[in-house]
Amino acid sequence: PYDVLVVGGGPAGASAAIYAARKGIRTGILAEKFGGQPLETLGIENFIGTTYTEGPKLAAQLEEHVKSYPVDVMKTQKAIKLAKNELVEVTLENGAVLQSKTVVLSTGARWRSLGIPGEETFKNKGIAYCPHCDGPLFAGKKIAVVGGGNSGIEAAIDLAGVVEHVTVLEFLPELKADKVLQDKLYSLDNVTVLTNVETKAIYGQDKVDSLAYMDRDTQEVLTLELAGVFILIGLVPNTEWLEGSVDRTARGEIIVDKQGATNLPGVYAAGDCTDSVYKQIIIAMGSGATAALGAFDYIIRH
Ligand code: FAD
Repeated sequence: PYDVLVVGGGPAGASAAIYAARKGIRTGILAEKFGGQPLETLGIENFIGTTYTEGPKLAAQLEEHVKSYPVDVMKTQKAIKLAKNELVEVTLENGAVLQSKTVVLSTGARWRSLGIPGEETFKNKGIAYCPHCDGPLFAGKKIAVVGGGNSGIEAAIDLAGVVEHVTVLEFLPELKADKVLQDKLYSLDNVTVLTNVETKAIYGQDKVDSLAYMDRDTQEVLTLELAGVFILIGLVPNTEWLEGSVDRTARGEIIVDKQGATNLPGVYAAGDCTDSVYKQIIIAMGSGATAALGAFDYIIRH
């Protein structure tokens, strides 16, 4: 059996594997896609100490760094079940069962997509999901935020300070964000809020130049000219496979304490799959280190 088995090979998992391996204990890491969300990211400008890098490059560096230690790296492997007996047992899609004294769950999350024409084509070419990451790219330009929940309205307020104009599009007749956020939003003079509208398509040549939406009252289809669209209709943690084993919030985020421990002894979690407040690369890496140190602490006491 392993001492530490890391499930998920994004920034959180890579960090956990390196911190565990540096303790000289038996470490394994398995991932469906080694590298995680950075594989889909173009420019990264907020990875502190690195002025600019690109996601695929960072993903390759994560793998190289992990492999510089004696870690069992199992790529293109998907975990489908976790059970705690004497050891923690992780079942893979191929039928194998891996055993470990401790496990670090770092399966990340995925942004819910609209599923409309243009969305795939213009990813990283005007379509964005993270205001902290991509806001400055749209300085002085017109953008839209799709989604009137807390994350959408927080993004709209944040972006209004950076871009020329923000249009918020919400499918329902009312915004769902907290009242304080709505009050703040309506106090800004470069924001327009459209409710009861359905975003239909995103257009452009090389980059986004417009968005079509339908007024759900009149069924009229209208066009907005803009340079960017932030889609904030929900971040879904990749934790469906933990149903019934590890405690999660109503939104499916794994509940962790300050050591990264879950409710199951020996099972730790880190990164975007947890109930951490903010989801960023540097935060995921920090929590991966925390979870590995937490797991090591558990091992020396058991
Ligand atoms: P992830 O990166 O999601 O990695 C999860 C890992 O788990 C992957 O290896 C995945 O294949 C694996 N996995 C999932 N389910 C299973 C399973 N059942 N079995 C086995 N493996 C599994 N953050 C920034 O700080 N700066 C940025 O500029 C930035 N830009 C972004 C741009 C885009 C387009 C996106 C999508 C995100 C961006 N982020 C950015 C957010 C950042 O990428 C995430 O916060 C970070 O990657 C989270 O790391 P993680 O390791 O927790 O999860």
